[in-house]
Amino acid sequence: TKSPVKVTVTGAAGQIGYALLFRIASGAMLGPDTPVSLSLLEITPALKAAEGTAMELDDCAFPLLKGIEITDDANKAFSGTSVALLVGARPRGPGMERADLLQANGGIFKPQGEALNAGAADDIRVLVVGNPANTNALIAHSHAPDIPAERFSAMMRLDHNRALTQVAKKLGVGVDEVTKMTIWGNHSASQYPDLFHAQVGGKSVAEQVDQTWLSDTFIPTVAKRGAAIIDARGASSAASAANAAIDHVRSWVHGTPADDWVSAAIPSTGEYGVPEGLISGFPVTSDGGDWKVVEGLDIDEFSRARIDASVKELTEERDAVKGLGLI
Ligand code: NDP
Repeated sequence: TKSPVKVTVTGAAGQIGYALLFRIASGAMLGPDTPVSLSLLEITPALKAAEGTAMELDDCAFPLLKGIEITDDANKAFSGTSVALLVGARPRGPGMERADLLQANGGIFKPQGEALNAGAADDIRVLVVGNPANTNALIAHSHAPDIPAERFSAMMRLDHNRALTQVAKKLGVGVDEVTKMTIWGNHSASQYPDLFHAQVGGKSVAEQVDQTWLSDTFIPTVAKRGAAIIDARGASSAASAANAAIDHVRSWVHGTPADDWVSAAIPSTGEYGVPEGLISGFPVTSDGGDWKVVEGLDIDEFSRARIDASVKELTEERDAVKGLGLI
């Protein structure tokens, strides 16, 4: 029998945490043969709510769940951990300036990066979900010099899944028939969902839809889907965000299918003109080890301008956190 894999979830008492923990414990993320032990990191005032979630986890009697730890101490939460899902972040409050938001998140992701560096397992994989996710990942990564850069990632997978469904509906096919989707850049309104490389039936999706739908309907629908859900539900997308986190880690750990790829934000080594070090959305594959950027794709002028605009925003966020002394 395998020994349990430690999985740490921050912001565990939040909405996404509530949708995430039960699926991890059921085996949806690491597979039906991998026992897990969960570490729930929360801020002190939310510990009691985390206890409540842990009680419900107990009451599910998940055979794969071998232990639950609840703590407000990042060093304890990340000690020996193999998968860290950084969900807890400081949301933008009314009237909050961007610098204040970045500062507040620096106060969360810097110590978490340090704690990961100090105590995580050698095979640690980090996924940042809490927004601004790409830049929060950059902060954590820059305080974890002993962890290989490629172990840090930020989530583009929800945007990716949203894009798959929009295309599937448009073309009247199943979502599993849409392949090679890419979300480039920042997980923000500037993201670029790319239909030129996405395929249905072995042909570019861009060739099967009209350009007006692509630029005026598809791209804004995907980019603004979070706001549309808040508007409809009266609460932000939590279950689909948690599902995307599960998909991201599962693809990373178990690998991506041959002849397909997924979207993830990982530290650039200069691919596609993205400045080195930025944590940007790319088309990526995994063979169960590290993410690998799919190289050699032709980028047309339309795509180039959109990738550049989103990457510019990432550069500005990086410059802002640098200016604040956070990296
Ligand atoms: P959620 O669980 O709904 O969201 C958590 C984070 O995920 C937010 O930063 C949110 O960004 C982000 N996110 C990313 N993608 C999505 C998406 N598609 N839809 C919605 N959110 C998305 O927030 P809650 O307020 O319910 O819970 C946060 C928890 O984190 C609280 O329990 C709080 O106590 C905790 N926390 C823990 C910390 C720690 O462990 N050290 C530090 C800070 C907070 P956005 O704000 O842009 O929606």
